Order: sequence, then C-alpha cells, then structure tokens
Amino acid sequence: MGARRVRKYLRQGFAMLKGMAVTFRYLFRPPITVMYPEQKRPAVQPRFKGRHWLTLYEDTMERCVGCELCVIVCPSQAIYVKAAENTPEHQVSKGERYAEDFQINELRCIFCGLCEEACPTGAIVLGREYELAGYTRESMIYTKPMLTEPYPGASGRDPRREV
Ligand code: SF4
Ligand code: SF4
Repeated sequence: MGARRVRKYLRQGFAMLKGMAVTFRYLFRPPITVMYPEQKRPAVQPRFKGRHWLTLYEDTMERCVGCELCVIVCPSQAIYVKAAENTPEHQVSKGERYAEDFQINELRCIFCGLCEEACPTGAIVLGREYELAGYTRESMIYTKPMLTEPYPGASGRDPRREV
C-alpha cells in the first residue's frame, strides 16, 4: 500500500471520528425540539415584531388620527387607511381626523416595523402574536375591528398599555 493511500485512509478515518464525536456530544444532551403547536416557546425575542394592533387611549379614544404616514412608509403597500373628519357629535380620535377604515394585509406585510416607527401618535404597534394563518386571502386582511380588539396573547402583554 502506497504512502499516499495510507495518508488518504488516515484523513478519512480522522474525519469520521470527528463526526462521531459531534454525534456523541449531542447524544446525551436534552432535546431542544419544541412540539409546536401543542407546545410553544414561553417567549419570543424582545425585539420580535408580530401581528399589528391599533391602540386606544385609556379613555377608549382612538390614537389613530388618519394621517396615513404608515401608508406612505410601508414598503409592501400593505396598509389601507380611509380618513374622515371628526365632528363635535362624532369625536373618534383626539385629532382633526380619524381612520374611518383601516386595513392591513398581513400577507403582504414583511413585519419591518416602519409603520410603527412612523406613526406620530403611537397608534399602530406590532405585538408578539406570530400565529398568523388563514384559509382564505380575505381572512388575512385585518380590518379595523380586528386590529382594535383586545390583545389575546398568552404572554399577557397588551401593547395598548405600553405605548
Ligand atoms: S410592518 Fe412594514 S411591511 Fe408591515 S405594514 Fe408595517 S410598514 Fe408595512
Ligand atoms: S396608524 Fe398612525 S401613521 Fe397610520 S394613519 Fe393612524 S396615526 Fe397615522
């Protein structure tokens, strides 16, 4: 057997031993697999951005003033806002206008958070809810009633209390 062939076999044997060492190292460690969806990780990362919420003031007035800045900055064109004027008989927000209609297409959204950053009143926030799925496209277009509903997250975090 030539010296070159011996060196080749030694190299292969060494590589195999290295691989086996990795296998054995992990063999006796506890598994890190989470049996999702039956089990969920207790918390997402602190800067995680998930589902949107439209927040209200403590007195339930809407924070959104229908300025459409979120619409302008959104790189995915995922937001639709139809603004209307507040009147003394129908005061919805603390500004001159409010969002008569507000929709976010969660299928288009890339969860960049630019809308949240641009919003001058802190109305729009991205929460921690990541289970976004639906059977139809229409169900993934979140309407104003859906966006203003109470936060149901398991963590108990309510973005409306934090802005
Ligand atoms: S998170 Fe980004 S992509 Fe999604 S709606 Fe806001 S600005 Fe648009
Ligand atoms: S959510 Fe904020 S940025 Fe968007 S229309 Fe309302 S006030 Fe303006």
